Amino acid sequence: ASGPPPVRSSDPHEVLRRVFGYDGFRGDQQEIVEHVTGGGDALVLMPTGGGKSLCYQVPSLARSGTGVVISPLIALMQDQVDALRALGVRAGFLNSTQDADERRLTEQEFLAGELDLLYLAPERLRVESCVRLLERGRIALFAIDEAHCVAQWGHDFRPDYLLLSELPKRWPDVPRVALTATATDATRTEIAQRLELAQARHFVASFDRPNIAYRIVPKNEPRRQLLDLLRTEHPGDAGIVYCLSRKSVEQTAEALTAQGIRALPYHAGLDAAVRRENQARFLREDGVVMVATIAFGMGIDKPDVRFVAHLDLPKSVEGYYQETGRAGRDGEPSTAWLAYGLPDVVQQRKMIDDSDGDAAHKRRLRAHLDAMLALCETTECRRAQLLRYFGQDLGTASCGNCDTCLTPVSSWDGTVAAQKVLSTVWRLKNERRQSFGAVHVIDILLGRRTSKIDQFSHDELSVFGVGSDLTEPQWRSVIRQLVARGLLTVGGAHSTLVFTDESPAVMRGEQPLTLRTEPERATRGSRSRSG
Ligand code: ADP
Ligand code: ZN
Repeated sequence: ASGPPPVRSSDPHEVLRRVFGYDGFRGDQQEIVEHVTGGGDALVLMPTGGGKSLCYQVPSLARSGTGVVISPLIALMQDQVDALRALGVRAGFLNSTQDADERRLTEQEFLAGELDLLYLAPERLRVESCVRLLERGRIALFAIDEAHCVAQWGHDFRPDYLLLSELPKRWPDVPRVALTATATDATRTEIAQRLELAQARHFVASFDRPNIAYRIVPKNEPRRQLLDLLRTEHPGDAGIVYCLSRKSVEQTAEALTAQGIRALPYHAGLDAAVRRENQARFLREDGVVMVATIAFGMGIDKPDVRFVAHLDLPKSVEGYYQETGRAGRDGEPSTAWLAYGLPDVVQQRKMIDDSDGDAAHKRRLRAHLDAMLALCETTECRRAQLLRYFGQDLGTASCGNCDTCLTPVSSWDGTVAAQKVLSTVWRLKNERRQSFGAVHVIDILLGRRTSKIDQFSHDELSVFGVGSDLTEPQWRSVIRQLVARGLLTVGGAHSTLVFTDESPAVMRGEQPLTLRTEPERATRGSRSRSG
């Protein structure tokens, strides 16, 4: 058989047309490609689906030598390489999944100058023989994919990425391009510093994804709410449902399947073959719903994911943005839906408290969680707040495509309600051997005669029944917001509500408090409301 057609050209436009079959570059791509092809370093911040791959693939073909791509996504390397080979690009990879023969073959191709692109797992750089191999070949550029993995401040830190600071020392003349879809100012500064890219040109694309409708609803009966969303707004659509635990992934997938929805589970505890099969079906077939932990999704390029639903609270705004960003890469209207409640806050706070790591690490995790909670509890445009987090200005106060814009959230003076909750918690705190969670506090406020109330004679408390002006869901919302803002915390096996340093001022009414009013029917989509 004749070999693949020659695809190299020093003209990036020709490479774009002849190899990738596209008519033109998008957004910043052209500037980035020209800058890197000309030998410049670059730090590229572009949202998921923005087209980062071409930013290093085209320069790799336009420059002489092999483009070396550092990527943590070992499981995807084979697919990426296959896709490139189908276009006639000479691509290969080196990672721990290969046997010795495959590796040797790739190494020979690289040394013979027969590779346009070489994908490499970062830990390969710890292997001296691999570094020597790279030194013996000819390198067109280094591309550092998922560059936020180098930042300890970020949510996805991988120690092996720190090895990449060696690249400019060993190869001072080889241009480097670092790419990420996740970067707050803090993360970006850390990437630039750790990868020694301070002198590089920074390309920051807009992080707005206008076709994604953001919605965050109070979690009541999550599976029913999810089913409702799928049936009323996304029947037959492909989507991803994220759950925190493997167990809830499996249970949710089963529950959806029982309701006639084509749902498949995906988490790190499943057999590798099952994971591969489910991922392949999600990519290949229409209308598959992937129920997954966050182990799923990085690097997945499926354009028509119509919704991303979170049944549990993400740990950070970066994570939320990245996960929801997998929806609507084709630019068509898509939904990012999150259900969240007090138990989420309790669980995540506890996970942070119990986690390994020093005080600084825990402080970082808490700051991440607090930012996520602020996004959940905001009464303003979600998109504006999300973009502000990434240091960008939406340019208008409301986007018209998020729940808070479509169904404006009013706020109310919650000072007195907060005083009632805090006074109740205060009175319970003396019963040291007992623990009373939110449910019991609400029973007291509503004046309910439960067996637990009888047992502890809590109907004799002065606060018993003082909360009949609000409903049970309203009290749940008040307590959730108090915890989200750090005005109450939750401790112990029974999720006891506990005072924080800031509680007393609010209890005494010295600090007025504005709370969010849950929109009616907040569990339903805005589309089901007339208007
Ligand atoms: P990212 O890595 O930033 O998430 P990709 O590089 O995977 O994004 O690109 C997302 C999708 O957009 C891919 O399907 C890709 O083929 C397509 N794409 C990227 N750039 C262009 C372009 N200039 N013209 C047409 N399609 C493009
Ligand atoms: Zn909005």
